[in-house]
Amino acid sequence: MTLKKITIAIDGHSSTGKSTMAKTLARRIGYAYVDTGAMYRAVTLFALRNKLIRRGKVDEPALKDHLKRGDIVITFRPTKEGKSVTVLNGKNVERYIRSMRVSNVVSIIAAIGFVRKAMVKQQQAMGKDKGLVMDGRDIGTVVFPDAEMKVFATASAEVRAQRRYDELRAKGDTTTTFEEVLANVTERDRIDSTRKESPLRQADDAVVLDNSHMTLEEQDEWLYNLYLDRAKN
Ligand code: C5P
Repeated sequence: MTLKKITIAIDGHSSTGKSTMAKTLARRIGYAYVDTGAMYRAVTLFALRNKLIRRGKVDEPALKDHLKRGDIVITFRPTKEGKSVTVLNGKNVERYIRSMRVSNVVSIIAAIGFVRKAMVKQQQAMGKDKGLVMDGRDIGTVVFPDAEMKVFATASAEVRAQRRYDELRAKGDTTTTFEEVLANVTERDRIDSTRKESPLRQADDAVVLDNSHMTLEEQDEWLYNLYLDRAKN
């Protein structure tokens, strides 16, 4: 069986394990992987560090200027362990972009039209040669509407919050409560789904993956089989 190079778009709700499944699939089939949430998180970190967000309000003209001047350069760097880290202006910011401080405001930054435009442009450039797995909220609808494989990942809010909570604990965060994580996951979904610019929605030709009661192995096989189906000539 010959397989053609395709584009794989994985969208869905917050904390459905999109990046884990996307990374695993990419490694298995030798594709590049791009975490677009990390890009919005890096812009958010930049905005927080430069005091462009005050009481949930963004200084949009200032942020726009920074973007225009090229002050916010986001790249990904592979590590020795075969992982990829997010780099903001030359510095590894992986730890900081996953914090609750960033999670609490990232959806506000991601709802801004000019921010999305700048990110989408970079994402389209990264995927111009296909052979990549990209995860986010608008990949199958806006970034790559012609992607050959589109997945829409979802799971119950409690299951998702528990996963994010376990992840924070594992990283040494001992103060954030489960209720706070659940509130954040639910609120991000609300903002992501109701925003004017590219709201989170399932593309008509996306396949739904509800992984509330799936093991990682089952999920990986499900994705791999879908890939084989879409990539075969
Ligand atoms: O995927 P992750 O949860 O890290 O994304 C963080 C936030 O970035 C999301 O809650 C969403 O607001 C935003 N996002 C987006 N479009 C994408 C990826 C992420 O709006 N393609």
